[in-house]
Amino acid sequence: MTDRRNDRPQTLVRRHPLKEGVSRAVVTPIQPSVVYASPSIDMLHAQYEGRAQGYTYAREGHPNATLLGQKIDMLEGASGGLITGSGMAAVTAAIMGILGAGDHIIGADQLYGRSLRLMHQDLARFGIATTVVDVGNPAALKAALRPETKMILLEVVSNPTLRVADMAGIIAVAKEAGVLVAVDNTFTTPIGYRPFDHGADIVIHSVTKLLAGHSDVTLGYVAARDPADTKKIYDFAVTTGLTPSPYECWLAERGLYTFPLRFDRAEANAARLADWFAGQPKIAKVLYPGRADHPDHDRAKALLKGRYGNMLSIMIDGDAAAANRMVEAMPEMAFAPTLGDVGTTLSHPPSSSHRGLTAEGRAALGITDGFFRISVGIEDVDLLIADFEAGLAAI
Ligand SMILES: *Cc1c(COP(=O)(O)O)cnc(C)c1O
Repeated sequence: MTDRRNDRPQTLVRRHPLKEGVSRAVVTPIQPSVVYASPSIDMLHAQYEGRAQGYTYAREGHPNATLLGQKIDMLEGASGGLITGSGMAAVTAAIMGILGAGDHIIGADQLYGRSLRLMHQDLARFGIATTVVDVGNPAALKAALRPETKMILLEVVSNPTLRVADMAGIIAVAKEAGVLVAVDNTFTTPIGYRPFDHGADIVIHSVTKLLAGHSDVTLGYVAARDPADTKKIYDFAVTTGLTPSPYECWLAERGLYTFPLRFDRAEANAARLADWFAGQPKIAKVLYPGRADHPDHDRAKALLKGRYGNMLSIMIDGDAAAANRMVEAMPEMAFAPTLGDVGTTLSHPPSSSHRGLTAEGRAALGITDGFFRISVGIEDVDLLIADFEAGLAAI
């Protein structure tokens, strides 16, 4: 193509990026470029050798992911945290970036469903041995240790029974044995608990949940205390393509701005709703770590310092049919197996996350047909109470 004004060859392809001038954008720009041009071969060497900062190819990193990672680093007291395309990508990168054939990993027996599947099915195919233990009991961890144990993966508050791990006990046993402690901090968030402050080695998030907060992105985050582990995790994630999209990082950053406000409000709603449920005759049990009747309340109090979060579980006094009637009677509430959304979501573990277990297996965890998990959102709490009043009346 020729520019008629000066007869020089022209192209429509973006050779000349727009300059911003003397002012600056207030909102983070989205940078969708997959490739980055370097000024010279010398400079490219400098980039790869870490002597100069610069991007090369988006699978290896891009500005929107860097910025989001830095912001979550700030919340977690971490540095060099990596953003991945999902929470499970972060879990996978943390385990498979560091462990190899012949190693052994211990997982909490109430991990997130897919993490548990990694433990029970997938890791064995790569020669990584696994054991799951009750993380409320450090002696169980001690008993499961082997000379080749490299890592323990746990969550502070379990899903869906909201049991609280004995973090101090577990970390002490792991440290003594030289085992890396990886904490999936999705439920507690850095407002409730900062794993690095307590000696953990790796922190993982499903950013999809409370941090992004609007159920419109899937993203993960993983940070390691030791830069050598960070490098291993990063290299594995780049090689296997666990890359996040710039647009999703941008949306998550926007969600993160209101995370502390959303968390405060959702937590206050959850506490209020838990107390309300406790007074309802059709409720057989309320599980909320902030309530004195929770089996791990004392531990929760010490660990979470009053930040008990937005997750709450209930058991209704009724069978599977009654549970179904309750859901049907609450059409305004999203019956969906996710958590951390601005809106309240209701899930039924026996028919979703825990449907793969036998009835006996579920009973052992305390999950009956009338068990519901509630991710409390930021609505007016009176609206939520009115919804549940209608639901309980249908039981
Ligand atoms: C959702 C979740 C994950 C997985 O995250 P995705 O973003 O869905 O891949 C991992 N751990 C916990 C505790 C979760 O709630």
